Amino acid sequence: MRSRSLRLRLILIFGLGTLLLSSLLGTLTFFGVRDVLITQQQQTDLQQSYVNAALIRNTLYTAPLTLANEVVSIGQSANSTLLLNIHGQWQTINPATPFIDISAAAMRATAKGHVTTETRMVQSDLDYVVGIPIPAVQTQVFEVWQLDGLEHNMRVLLLIIGSAALFTTILGASGGVWVSRRTLRPLVVVSDTAARIAGGDFATRLPTTHAGSEVEQLTESFNAMVDQLVTKLERDARFASDVSHELRSPLTALAMSASILEQHRGELDPAAQESLTLLSAEILVFQGLIEDLIELSRSDAGANSLTLEVISIVELTRQAVRSVTRRMGGDEPLVEVDPELEDARVLVDRRRFERIIANLMDNARRYAGGVVAVRLVSRGTHVQLNVDDAGPGISEVEQEHVFERFFRGRAAHDRSVVRGTGLGLALVREHVKSLDGEIRATESPEGGARFQIDLPLVGFPS
Ligand code: ADP
Repeated sequence: MRSRSLRLRLILIFGLGTLLLSSLLGTLTFFGVRDVLITQQQQTDLQQSYVNAALIRNTLYTAPLTLANEVVSIGQSANSTLLLNIHGQWQTINPATPFIDISAAAMRATAKGHVTTETRMVQSDLDYVVGIPIPAVQTQVFEVWQLDGLEHNMRVLLLIIGSAALFTTILGASGGVWVSRRTLRPLVVVSDTAARIAGGDFATRLPTTHAGSEVEQLTESFNAMVDQLVTKLERDARFASDVSHELRSPLTALAMSASILEQHRGELDPAAQESLTLLSAEILVFQGLIEDLIELSRSDAGANSLTLEVISIVELTRQAVRSVTRRMGGDEPLVEVDPELEDARVLVDRRRFERIIANLMDNARRYAGGVVAVRLVSRGTHVQLNVDDAGPGISEVEQEHVFERFFRGRAAHDRSVVRGTGLGLALVREHVKSLDGEIRATESPEGGARFQIDLPLVGFPS
């Protein structure tokens, strides 16, 4: 998730970076080219205005009686408008020409005999105004050039630059995708490997990389760290297993001695009888703890054998509930079955399945007065097995922790409850995992605890 957001950030940085750069370059290019084109056009227009002014001067000089209109049309160019001030009288071919738009400063300067030029924006049109004095015939020629043609060229240029900017941005973003993929690949491999190791696959290591590459050192330290961790885990597991086995024999001797004492209980005084009761109970708890520890360490070492068979889930559950009830005593809980599951089958180890049911039923008996119902619900490719009671339930905070080793919840602190080892649910989870299932604690419809087990059904791809 994190690497994905990092990738997104890299792509954004590349994309936005190229967008910014290409926009900047595009803007600079656009205004640079625009200035050059305008200057060139203005030079051409100025030259033409000189030619036009010379024509007018010759006409007025050689034929002073020529009609003003005709004089104007002589000098008029196709893309300009001509204004003449002959002896103080303004003349133009188009009477609508706004000669008053020519600035007073330009008029004054031209009247004084200076050539003036002026670039102006009139309603988003760019005009170039040239003023040329012809003192010999007391005339000033003003020519207004429209730079419309240039405007069109500018728009085309803008389109080309915009497209180029867009193209480079896409190119930049694609570069970002490529670079992020390349640079983040080792990170993705590390996070996948770490996830696999956290999931219990202790044989996984990072693949070796080219010598001298940047990730070589990371790979070496990571793999060395995992090696050390695995060694430590194995040592701890072996220690727990060894201790449990070592304690087993003296404990058996203790249990035998206690049972001999039990046979002579009647000969003991009341205080000794009470001590014997306490001793026998503690020995029982201790034996349970050692058995659970040995089973857990076997499961940790992957030494617990599995005898798998395909069985009807309904039949299996009914049998398990019946045999556990027979052993534990009390009323047999109801087994409610989703009709869809009548023919459903699972691939399980009978002994482990029965251990799961026995553990959950024993907990329900100790903490909640017994199981209310065992419910089998169809979940498509899975079956959901719910073991429900109507006891005090398990708080949301505890639901997260009840499967941890040696965890004892609020319910276990009740003095009337027979003490457990804190390993029961941890073992149940190991058994469920070995059957490719999942277990979680939640709330039953009766308000008590619900232990929900999901098991894959046979006949569906896993
Ligand atoms: P323990 O030996 O203490 O019973 P478990 O691993 O079997 O250990 O259970 C862990 C804790 O989960 C218990 O201490 C208890 O607080 C809680 N718990 C288990 N089953 C139930 C239940 N049916 N109702 C309420 N709390 C329960």
